[in-house]
Amino acid sequence: MNTPNRSYWENELYNLTYDLIIIGAGLTGLSSAYFYKQKYPEAKVLVIDRGFFPIGASTRNAGFACIGSVGELISDLELESAEIVKQRIKDRYEGLLLLRNTLGDSNIDYEPEGGWEVFDDESEFLKLKDSVPMLNDWMEDLIGETEVFKVGTYLGKHSYFNRVEGMLHPGKMIRTLHEKCLKSGIEFRWNTKIEELDSISNLVISEHGHKFQSKNLIIATNAFTNKLLPQINIKPGRGYVFITKEMPALEWFGTFHYNKGYVYFRNVGDTRILIGGGRNINYDAETTSEFGVNETIKEYLINFSNDFLKLPQGWEIEQEWSGIMGFTESKSYLIEQIDENCILAAGLSGMGVALGMNLGKKASDLV
Ligand SMILES: Cc1cc2nc3c(=O)[nH]c(=O)nc-3n(C[C@H](O)[C@H](O)[C@H](O)COP(=O)(O)OP(=O)(O)OC[C@H]3O[C@@H](n4cnc5c(N)ncnc54)[C@H](O)[C@@H]3O)c2cc1C
Repeated sequence: MNTPNRSYWENELYNLTYDLIIIGAGLTGLSSAYFYKQKYPEAKVLVIDRGFFPIGASTRNAGFACIGSVGELISDLELESAEIVKQRIKDRYEGLLLLRNTLGDSNIDYEPEGGWEVFDDESEFLKLKDSVPMLNDWMEDLIGETEVFKVGTYLGKHSYFNRVEGMLHPGKMIRTLHEKCLKSGIEFRWNTKIEELDSISNLVISEHGHKFQSKNLIIATNAFTNKLLPQINIKPGRGYVFITKEMPALEWFGTFHYNKGYVYFRNVGDTRILIGGGRNINYDAETTSEFGVNETIKEYLINFSNDFLKLPQGWEIEQEWSGIMGFTESKSYLIEQIDENCILAAGLSGMGVALGMNLGKKASDLV
């Protein structure tokens, strides 16, 4: 269908100049819309997304509300200074509290199960052991919690346990936040892919030529940012996840990381397990913004499920899917002023559940 001229009546309705337009209805974009509207209830706020519902990472992730595992934090120190790594812990922790307080634990199926990092290589486990007291001191300073990390075993595997993490239902998280946005009077345009934007005049144009004008703009397109702002260095990374059919007796309860977090798994209810990751197995192929299943990675995760998790014989995959993450060079998210009234909030680098609402709120505070 070609795009018809607008009628006089449509112009009266839709030729609005918004106070704020947000491109991207994932956790970051919805949160920035919500907190801006809380601050300015009279403001005209519009959220635009290319999908029928958000199609990036926010409804396709594993639902780990992570603050950081011992292995992740120590390997982060090879990339960034202690100050930056500590700030990220704080941002995630505060983000998780904000998310839980704003949406309510029961609405998002939040379960404070903690997070395990499990090892089959004893030397890898021992290499990190001396760092535990230091990380516990950090946590006490940063979030006021003592003995956050504990050394232990899970089903006989060497493990580190982080007691302040949890898990949630990503679909319910986005649905609850979307409902809150609707109740507060925020408008939405779904199935509207933005092809062009002028960050000085804040005019955005959809692939079908619809124009939207705003006084302020927040770009929350995470992995897809580069298509709108080619100067921004955020690389896409595809993530693969599957969930099993029901099994009689599940042994793994909680959220688990393995191999520096490249593999992760969790229980879903009492009878299913969700397993994902493995990007490191075929890294180049997974540096893509196209959805899809990489058979090599799938096979790797199936083998992992048999050999390491020892799932009962005959277990089967019920559903599989992929999502796209946005990685910055350093791993730190980007929140920056692109032009006077245009803000970018993106690049959550694979860990956005605890962080996303905090980042969205920070972006709304900058407007
Ligand atoms: C498989 C997988 C598992 C993950 N597991 C976890 C986990 O367990 N814990 C964790 O903390 N993090 C996890 N993540 C990462 C986490 O989901 C993300 O960091 C977070 O959801 C990012 O939120 P966002 O709103 O910034 O981006 P997104 O949710 O990707 O939202 C961006 C939105 O922008 C829209 N958009 C893009 N371009 C345009 C355009 N041109 N016009 C209009 N709309 C556009 C997209 O449709 C999308 O809805 C996982 C990610 C994946 C893919």
